[in-house]
Amino acid sequence: MQANKLPSLLDAPLSAGTRVLLALDLNVSCQDGKVTDTFRIEKVLPTLEYLSKKGCRTMIISHMGSDGSRTLAPIAEFLKKTFKILFANSLSEAREMSATLSNGEFLLLENIRREAGEMANDPELAKRLASLADIYVNEAFSVSHRAHSSVVGVPKLLPSFAGFQFIEEVEKLSTALKPIHPSLFVLGGAKFETKLPLLMKFLNRYDRVFVGGALANDLFRAMGVSVGDSLVSERTLDLKVVTENPSVRLPLDFLVQKGPVTVVTPPEALGKGERVVDSGPKTAEFLAELAAESKFILWNGPLGEFERGFSERTLAFARAVAESGAHSIVGGGDTISAIQSLNMLEKFDFVSTGGGAMLDFLANETLPGIEALKK
Ligand code: ADP
Ligand code: MG
Repeated sequence: MQANKLPSLLDAPLSAGTRVLLALDLNVSCQDGKVTDTFRIEKVLPTLEYLSKKGCRTMIISHMGSDGSRTLAPIAEFLKKTFKILFANSLSEAREMSATLSNGEFLLLENIRREAGEMANDPELAKRLASLADIYVNEAFSVSHRAHSSVVGVPKLLPSFAGFQFIEEVEKLSTALKPIHPSLFVLGGAKFETKLPLLMKFLNRYDRVFVGGALANDLFRAMGVSVGDSLVSERTLDLKVVTENPSVRLPLDFLVQKGPVTVVTPPEALGKGERVVDSGPKTAEFLAELAAESKFILWNGPLGEFERGFSERTLAFARAVAESGAHSIVGGGDTISAIQSLNMLEKFDFVSTGGGAMLDFLANETLPGIEALKK
């Protein structure tokens, strides 16, 4: 997938008064009505500034949470500090309010998943959205693996362009499809089913593939090693292709929780009542060596249960990547949260805003939202 084949916002015919429908992913953490995680918002500020400077009247669409229950109101408050922005509670309210917008101003529509038809990609909803704008801009890379109305329906009806961040995602992630050597792919986290296609694809593209986090439990189980009470996938997967691949590396030791105590254990020694919560010190050292020997590192998935405080090896690996001097790309919803909480985000060459979208893009080399822009 070549990013330069995507129609870019830079080439969009914009002038004062152009009505833009801008898809963003403003689904960020909020607490007590206040934004607590600005990472994704900051990444799209250049696009907002560009549209405002051009004098466009921009209607922003985004979701919040997995359904329609949550509100985008805190995001409107946050953006008000920098931009002139109105907030519409519904699409019909947005229709009226958009007529009052001045050049350079924004209108944020409440959680698009409240509109019936968004998630089912209803063409009627796409029509109603498209009728409010002259052009469509997709700056929501992290939602573009979903065939929703605001992602694939609207671009059928309007001249459509990819935002700056969107294009950067495609460009930077494309470099991970053909990594420079020696290359290292580190895959952690949980839910093997969602990560297996990517793992299979990269087994023969990366020189070394380290599988950690809860995913390693599945691999040990597949090799007949007991993993005690550790988290494993519900389905037993046939992982022979992975365990027998010569590029694959696994943790050398684990931090294991047993009742109220944690101990370091080699994988073979895991018993009943014991649960892996992080890698151990030998693994951290081994990973640091792998990182130091690499010129390119792609990383998705925390190495331990960081939400419960087991973030030591995730932090150690983040440091090892930073010290390695390798070109580094990192992504994944939980991975970003983990790295962010450790204040290490700026240590990476590229941090993807995509979670599922990043995994899907790497596995399939395109996304429904990308295909929709190319037509
Ligand atoms: P991402 O969102 O970055 O793709 P995932 O969703 O795959 O990452 O995985 C993140 C989750 O994996 C976190 O909730 C983390 O606690 C969990 N995790 C990581 N290592 C382990 C482990 N050894 N045992 C159980 N859960 C783990
Ligand atoms: Mg996740």
